[in-house]
Amino acid sequence: MTAPITQDVLTLPRKLPEGPVNLIGLTRAGLREALIAAGTPEKQAKMRVGQIWQWIYHWGVRDFAAMTNLAKDYRAMLAETFVISLPEVVTRQVSDDGTRKYLVRIAGGHEVEVVYIPEEDRGTLCISSQVGCTLTCSFCHTGTQKLVRNLTPAEIVGQVMLARDDLGEWPEPGTGTGEAGPRLLSNIVLMGMGEPLYNFENVRDAMKIVMDPEGISLSRRRITLSTSGVVPEIARTAEEIGCLLAVSFHATTDEVRDRLVPINKRWNIETLLGALRDYPRLSNSERITFEYVMLKGVNDSDADAKRLVKLIEGIPAKINLIPFNEWPGAPYERSDRQRIKAFADIIYKAGYASPIRTPRGEDIMAACGQLKSATERARKSRAEIAAEAGLG
Ligand code: SAH
Ligand code: SF4
Repeated sequence: MTAPITQDVLTLPRKLPEGPVNLIGLTRAGLREALIAAGTPEKQAKMRVGQIWQWIYHWGVRDFAAMTNLAKDYRAMLAETFVISLPEVVTRQVSDDGTRKYLVRIAGGHEVEVVYIPEEDRGTLCISSQVGCTLTCSFCHTGTQKLVRNLTPAEIVGQVMLARDDLGEWPEPGTGTGEAGPRLLSNIVLMGMGEPLYNFENVRDAMKIVMDPEGISLSRRRITLSTSGVVPEIARTAEEIGCLLAVSFHATTDEVRDRLVPINKRWNIETLLGALRDYPRLSNSERITFEYVMLKGVNDSDADAKRLVKLIEGIPAKINLIPFNEWPGAPYERSDRQRIKAFADIIYKAGYASPIRTPRGEDIMAACGQLKSATERARKSRAEIAAEAGLG
């Protein structure tokens, strides 16, 4: 006998797609839609969203059966309709300095890397936003790999959740809120593979989930998004995410920046600085981080340091000097220690913080710009890279 068709089903406005739907990565609004489509009465939807949200993002629960404040048959319905699923960790490497690198497999068999960097006063997770990158910064290993696809919100939030799994950082249900001690994973940087502002909506939704106070609850001031300079999306980042911003500046003349960060040909230094000037006000945040990779004989002269200080005048800023991390076949060398120090000194004397970033996890190729999926076959040709970088 077929089941009686109820009024509810007949008037149901929404339909779920075929196959189980992953609840991870849905915003609160998305979760509400999904629950209603699965038959949750609209009047109860808000409460159910709140309950399920807490189980998933506060307690880290993956099993519907453990959601004890929901009725048994409702849990059974959830288990039939939905999954709570994270990307799979393929390998986990731990560096001598405690840095952890995870190779993570996502749908389609693609891989991205996630790096956890423990420091004295914080633990930072460096997450990826794309498989590969459409851009071709000539000093970046990821830039030699074609864009395969954007990561979904689930795959972005999933990176945070799998790191929390590995660090054992979910609270125990029934033993308080889990806010007792300092957090192992206290900060997030979007500095892994990909250009986050070319995957804006998914990055935004994922960060909204991570910032939600009833879940993972990381403050927007503990999230830093690094962009190569996708100018039209910078104001949106301030308004719709509100996190801290880092910009891959790397050069002080358009001529050199065109070569290092080819997106500069589209939005040059002056246009970029215009967008950056508005960012602190729009996002109500303090300082912008200017990332500056130190390449021997390319962008590391005293004259560069002086130009840099002039260019950023009036922008509340910190300048993060990144000694170039080498990778097989890279066309650059790292500036000498003394040179980096002299460069830092000029910036410091002009009144800006100018920390030199200590490369972390070098022994496991986990340092900035070294990430690249070893198994990914889609490589840019040398000619493509050279043409984009204006070297051809
Ligand atoms: N696509 C974004 C974020 C990822 S890269 C961006 O470009 O900003 C994170 C930082 O590492 C960027 O500042 C990038 O320019 C820098 N980087 C890339 N390759 C590097 C390398 N080989 N050595 C040092 N820093 C590198
Ligand atoms: Fe892409 Fe950033 Fe690498 Fe440039 S530095 S190629 S934008 S990941």
